[in-house]
Amino acid sequence: MEIDEAREVRTTCPYCGVGCGVLAKVAADGQVSVRGDPDHPANFGRLCSKGSALAETIDLDGRLLYPEIHGRRTAWGEALDLVASTFSQTIAEHGPEAVAFYVSGQLLTEDYYVANKLMKGFVGSANIDTNSRLCMASSVAGHRRAFGSDTVPGTYEDLELADLIVLVGSNLAWCHPVLYQRIAAAREKRPEMKIVLVDPRRTMTADIADMHLPIAPDGDVALFTGLLAYLGQHNALDRAYITAHTTGFGQALFAASALDLAGVAAATGLGEDELGRFYSLFAATAKTVTVYSQGVNQSSSGTDKVNAIINCHLATGRIGRPGAGPFSVTGQPNAMGGREVGGMANMLAAHMEIENPDHRERVRRFWNAPDIAAKPGLKAVEMFRGLADGRIKALWIMATNPVDSMPDADAVEAAIKACPFVVVSDVLARTDTVRHAHVRLPAAAWGEKDGTVTNSERRISRQRAFLDLPGEARPDWQIVAEVSKRMGFDEAFSYASPSEVFAEHAALSGFENDGARDFDIGACAGIDDDGYGELAPFQWPAPSQGTPLWPAGHLPRKEGDQLLSWPSPITSGARDTPAPKPPISPLAGEMAGRPEGGAQAGCQPDMGIQPRIASPSIRFFADGNFYTPDRKARFIAVRPTVETRTSPDYPLILNTGRIRDHWHTMTRTGKSQRLSQHIAEPFVEIHPEDAQRFGIGDADIVRVSSPRGEVLVRALVTARQRQGSLFAPMHWTDQFSAKGRLDTLTAPLTDPVSGQPALKHVAARIEKF
Ligand code: SF4
Repeated sequence: MEIDEAREVRTTCPYCGVGCGVLAKVAADGQVSVRGDPDHPANFGRLCSKGSALAETIDLDGRLLYPEIHGRRTAWGEALDLVASTFSQTIAEHGPEAVAFYVSGQLLTEDYYVANKLMKGFVGSANIDTNSRLCMASSVAGHRRAFGSDTVPGTYEDLELADLIVLVGSNLAWCHPVLYQRIAAAREKRPEMKIVLVDPRRTMTADIADMHLPIAPDGDVALFTGLLAYLGQHNALDRAYITAHTTGFGQALFAASALDLAGVAAATGLGEDELGRFYSLFAATAKTVTVYSQGVNQSSSGTDKVNAIINCHLATGRIGRPGAGPFSVTGQPNAMGGREVGGMANMLAAHMEIENPDHRERVRRFWNAPDIAAKPGLKAVEMFRGLADGRIKALWIMATNPVDSMPDADAVEAAIKACPFVVVSDVLARTDTVRHAHVRLPAAAWGEKDGTVTNSERRISRQRAFLDLPGEARPDWQIVAEVSKRMGFDEAFSYASPSEVFAEHAALSGFENDGARDFDIGACAGIDDDGYGELAPFQWPAPSQGTPLWPAGHLPRKEGDQLLSWPSPITSGARDTPAPKPPISPLAGEMAGRPEGGAQAGCQPDMGIQPRIASPSIRFFADGNFYTPDRKARFIAVRPTVETRTSPDYPLILNTGRIRDHWHTMTRTGKSQRLSQHIAEPFVEIHPEDAQRFGIGDADIVRVSSPRGEVLVRALVTARQRQGSLFAPMHWTDQFSAKGRLDTLTAPLTDPVSGQPALKHVAARIEKF
């Protein structure tokens, strides 16, 4: 690739669901530098420590650069032939349910789309699941139960407009730092804004909170059912909204009345006084956003928690309005894009339902597929069980490291080792998962490939290549397409570029979509390479029905609130067309101008002169129409369940999570010395009284064990930790620390609705080593 020093490429950070815009530049000496994109509407120039260290993590040390079979370098053709023939043979001998893909929220939407299409439409199985199952599957399930669709109603702007932000199970300061910064900045301008943190730990996020509720593990359903009952008792319901736009309120309120305030206090470990203060603050504040993350999702009652939160917003009509709504923030950069293409075992494509025969037939016709998966496939934990008991005989793992990140990780490793045929496509040569692969396929990394990602506010942004592909690495979508062609599906997988994949994905989203489905980016169906190259970040929906097609997915150009025109896809303004009717479906909610600082430039690789393009904030459900058959939101009657997992042998509850400067299993952030300086080794937080009880001093090396395994880590004695609980980060692997694989301790216990593992509630014990 020829280097043009003046050239900055607009791309997107690959670390978390905030989806910050990044400007990347390669100097003449090959040095890469990055800075925040001041015009990206997710971050307006901000980057956190991980994002700003991106350039330190992209060297080629440890990269997988060539295909390998049984550890021997081979030609691409030979590797692809072997993968295709083995999958085809396994399907022929054992049926389509005998093969599986385990993919990743690190994949770009185009990669995800092609993998999902192959498995669901052409193999005829739904055995494709993703590490996003570990991250936000409970939010998906909760949305679908309440709204009839997996729709995040609000936008980041709502966090700045709210008068009350309730953060539940979210250490936003460390895990979504730029959102935290946006809230902190808004709060500085409006000191009257209130923030409540609901978390068993007093995390760094507590520093910004007016109130911290150190809730007992898994006490969230009790907390929010108690809130619903309180709203009913204190005349704080929006009865007109409930009547007009919802069903099931009576049953939900009846279920919520199962506990009185004393019962809620007992189930949450919170005092009645602090509960009363929180409840009255919520009741009195119309503009409330409830933000939730893994502390809610990673639970055996995760889906009920999500619905308990949504119930309170429906009961007060606080949804789809500026500064109000329930808001799930996703962990991974493209968990949302994966949901959009249906890259989960219980979803189809474009937010269609695998259980719905009309949806299956529609997708089959669109793909011209020989078959379509007729039932949900194995979700992540079930998939590795299927591997262990021999049901899965060929597995392809893409861009993830389940040997370290799945619960009961030793059992997962044993299952992978026993599987007759394992393919891993990855950027790294020797992760704990890659070393067990029969076939290793070198994948392109961040900065080397083109595609799109969707962030937590439904904003689709481009990732753009600014580095040459090293060795023989290839983008994942291309690898999957090559295998598909070798399996006999030439025509359906003959993509020449990622823009063709994106255009097809967009077309499917709009295919026979009369507004009855939420996910619609049909406006991008005709996008070409040029339009894709210039594609500006935009929030969906961007439908095409009833209006002229948006030119190549560009956003409408606005001045203040006034719609001016759509810029041409090719010339960025030179051939602007008169403004047509805004292409927003009647079901799509309101489209409002960003009140302040919201202008963004159209994204062009060459940063040429271009028009300023407004970034409309699109909220769903402003009109009270949902995606259920009767268009009404559903209250879900949830009851708190009290589950004791501790025992005399394992008397503590271990909570697992992330730290500020590392990401997943450190395969990338572990390369940066700067990032490793923040916290250099694995640790476990323990309350001072528990430390005294178990004879542990600060900085002691301790053994933390569960019925499944043990780790050796350093003790951090701190009153920030709740008594009776431990906290340890998930990142370290044996590569970075002897006996540091935390997920050897966690159990494969899952939420019955979402299949998401309960990674934050593990019975454990601790002893000095
Ligand atoms: Fe990247 Fe997330 Fe940090 Fe933004 S907040 S720079 S997306 S890691």
